[in-house]
Amino acid sequence: MPSSLLDHVNAGIQSLAPYEPGKPVETLRRELGLTDIIKLASNENPFGPSPKAVAAVTDAAAEGARYPDGTGYRLKQALASFHDIDPARITLGNGSNDLLCLLGQILLGPGTNIVMARHAFAIYALVALGMNAGVRWAEARAPDSVMPYGHDAGQLAAMVDDDTRILFIANPNNPTGTWLPPAAIESLLEQVPARVMVVLDEAYCEYQSPDQRPDSRAWLERYPNLVVTRTFSKAYGLAGMRVGYALSHADIADRLNRVRQPFNVNSLALAAAEAALGDEAHLTRSVDHNNAALPALTAGLEALGGQVLPSQANFVTADMGMDGDQAFQALLREGVIVRPMAGYGLPRHLRITVGTEAENERFLAAMGRVLDRAG
Ligand SMILES: *Cc1c(COP(=O)(O)O)cnc(C)c1O
Repeated sequence: MPSSLLDHVNAGIQSLAPYEPGKPVETLRRELGLTDIIKLASNENPFGPSPKAVAAVTDAAAEGARYPDGTGYRLKQALASFHDIDPARITLGNGSNDLLCLLGQILLGPGTNIVMARHAFAIYALVALGMNAGVRWAEARAPDSVMPYGHDAGQLAAMVDDDTRILFIANPNNPTGTWLPPAAIESLLEQVPARVMVVLDEAYCEYQSPDQRPDSRAWLERYPNLVVTRTFSKAYGLAGMRVGYALSHADIADRLNRVRQPFNVNSLALAAAEAALGDEAHLTRSVDHNNAALPALTAGLEALGGQVLPSQANFVTADMGMDGDQAFQALLREGVIVRPMAGYGLPRHLRITVGTEAENERFLAAMGRVLDRAG
């Protein structure tokens, strides 16, 4: 490839390292020839999708020769009634990741920057670099604080400068599981100038306890620069379908709709999400399981000597007292896929998704053996 061509690739893209997804079960099967594998690496719902969503996908598949409804009319209507919001303020995305990219596309370019917390969701930085924009990192809370490695609202506000276009908050954050109290987010919204977009990424909000879950819907009425993103990938169990959405001021939704692909959410995903939204029982069952299993998983990790970060999501992140990559590799040989966190500046931490009871127990047993062998 002539370097004269590659030299013209935008400098931000030249400098970025691609996102590293969790290892798929099939890949590990191929690599190590293992058959009995569990994956607790991508914060997927251990119960799978709602059976109603599966049925809706089967029906929609028969119409697969047709283009999807590019306006997402039915799903938006359902979301509008779910959130009590004008459908003109909803933008659908191919996963909420799509929306994060679209937000970057409408606001970022050379000379601009985003503000994000250290150890926050990696996609924000990729969005900025992809648009040739800079990243201003806000220091996280101290490891010995009540919210170790969590977002620090004061630091985030302080990093905003004249060129900042977007401030990203992941609440709860992936990969730490930590969260900001609603009052801290609100004071951040008060402090940030209205010309700066605040993106509140609530991918895990369904798992939060009611007293810690912010009423972001109400904030949308008071802060026109606020964008809330949600996803069907986690508690709704539709990660493979790729559907997320943003709630915002109608003017922002309008700009997003100008740049998104006309059919960015496919027909199967639209049908699945609409059905999943209507299956409250499946959501409740998923969240209730998480509420019960997360403390048990945390206690199991602590019994093995791990230092576990507080989490209100469907995963826990822990320093297991050994190198994270080594632990990850050793667990792979046990047929257990988790996520090492070195890429997030946490080289001794592992992130473990809450699985079924049997999966969590199998992971803990394997972790125990790995620690024993490591001495
Ligand atoms: C998983 C996740 C997302 C959502 O991803 P999708 O593209 O909707 O699958 C967004 N933000 C955070 C913090 C996440 O962990």
